[in-house]
Amino acid sequence: MKLKIGVLGIQGDFAMHQKSLRKLGVNAPNIRYNEELALCDGLVIPGGESTTFVKLLKKTGMFDALIEFNENKPIMGTCAGLIALSTSLINHNMETLGLIDISVERNGYGRQVDSFIDDVRVDGIETLVEGFFIRAPRIRSLGEGTKAIGFHNDEVVMAGNERILAMTFHPELTNDTTVHRFFIDKYVRK
Ligand code: GLN
Repeated sequence: MKLKIGVLGIQGDFAMHQKSLRKLGVNAPNIRYNEELALCDGLVIPGGESTTFVKLLKKTGMFDALIEFNENKPIMGTCAGLIALSTSLINHNMETLGLIDISVERNGYGRQVDSFIDDVRVDGIETLVEGFFIRAPRIRSLGEGTKAIGFHNDEVVMAGNERILAMTFHPELTNDTTVHRFFIDKYVRK
C-alpha cells in the first residue's frame, strides 16, 4: 500500500511539502483534525508562524494528539515546525510540544531581510542540500539523545532523535526532494 505522510495544514506553507512528497510517490493529505492524523504513517509540520501553530493546535486539541502520534510515528518539522517540536525556546515564552530535546532561538539570524539561501551538509546525504533560511530559528543547544544531522558551515541546522527530524530551513522550496526522501527512508520506512 502507498505510504501516507500527512502535512499539517492549519497554517503555513504546507502545499509545497505536499508537492515534494507527492513527487516521491507517497500520499500526502492535508491534516487538520485528529481523526485524519491517526491514519498517517508520518507527519510533516511545515514552516509558518510558530506562535499561531501552537495556539491553533491547542484550540483544536491536536497538541496532545501530536504528542501521542509521536509515540510510534515519525514527525518532520521545518522552521516554525522545528520551533513547535522543540523542548525550549530561549527568547520566547511559549508552550511547545517538547518532542525533541533542543533549545531554540526564534528569528535567530535577525529579521526578514536577513533571510538567505545556502548549502547545507547532511550526514547520510551525499550531495549538498539547498537550504532556504527564512526568518529562521537557530538551534542553540542539543540535549542528550539528540543527534546533530545537518550543518550550515559548522552550525547545526538539522537535528533528530528516534522519531523526530527537525530542521531550521525549508527543504520544500527547491525541486530537490532529497530531504523528504531522507525522512521517508530513515524515519518512516526504516
Ligand atoms: N519566524 C517564524 C517563527 O518564529 C518561523 C519562520 C518560518 O517558519 N519560516 O515562528
